[in-house]
Amino acid sequence: MPLFDSHCHLDFAEFDPDREMLWSQCRAAGIERLLIPGVCLADFPRQAAVVTSCGGTVAAYGFHPWWQHQHQPQHLHQLAGWLARPDCVAVGECGLDLAIDAADLALQRQLLSAQLALAVDFNKPVILHVRQAHEPLLALLKGFRLPRGGVLHAFSGPPELAAQYARHGLKLGIGGTISYPRAAKTRRTVAEVPIDWLVLETDAPAMPLAGYQGQRNSPLQLPLVLTTLAALRDEQPLALADQLWRNSCELFGL
Ligand SMILES: [Zn+2]
Repeated sequence: MPLFDSHCHLDFAEFDPDREMLWSQCRAAGIERLLIPGVCLADFPRQAAVVTSCGGTVAAYGFHPWWQHQHQPQHLHQLAGWLARPDCVAVGECGLDLAIDAADLALQRQLLSAQLALAVDFNKPVILHVRQAHEPLLALLKGFRLPRGGVLHAFSGPPELAAQYARHGLKLGIGGTISYPRAAKTRRTVAEVPIDWLVLETDAPAMPLAGYQGQRNSPLQLPLVLTTLAALRDEQPLALADQLWRNSCELFGL
């Protein structure tokens, strides 16, 4: 039963003390593939180094809205070079986040548009981050025909919102959020929507599962996300895992 963590920041400093040991524990636990999303240009070489040292991992390269003031227009040219590399399977993570301090929507929108255009040019899926910005994000997506769709990472929301993203060819990245009973809407969504809309993720080191708050999240928690999802859908974890694995592999062309 192979599992695919479609969103884990394994290159972040939180994993410096034990990254390679952790990744071998993941492989032993059936987590055979893991995607490391990019956040800013300065970090891309570190991501590439982790992909080289941890077999089975792949990268996406992109500019995250949390780093909105580090990104420079000329970085977009350099991003194109990174997207052409064989270790790169997607553009991202990119998106809109109006929940951060001093969020600059115009700047975020400009950066995201440029990255969506690159996803079209390079024929790659996109990995999208969104907080408190569903309306502007959906409005922006209407202007693009994404050839390979992508993932709306860390999805939370009702089934109607999920359906709007699905119309753009986006899958929903499902992680620790569904382990919290208070996430009733999201739990209902993941129980109801077609399974081919979903991919698994941990977003480690962020987003710990219920019962693990305050701890570093780990890709080793992915089986727990799977069994939580299976319980909510009243399905067998094995059959579910098989479909989710195929969803991720097809999306990223692996
Ligand atoms: Zn992320």
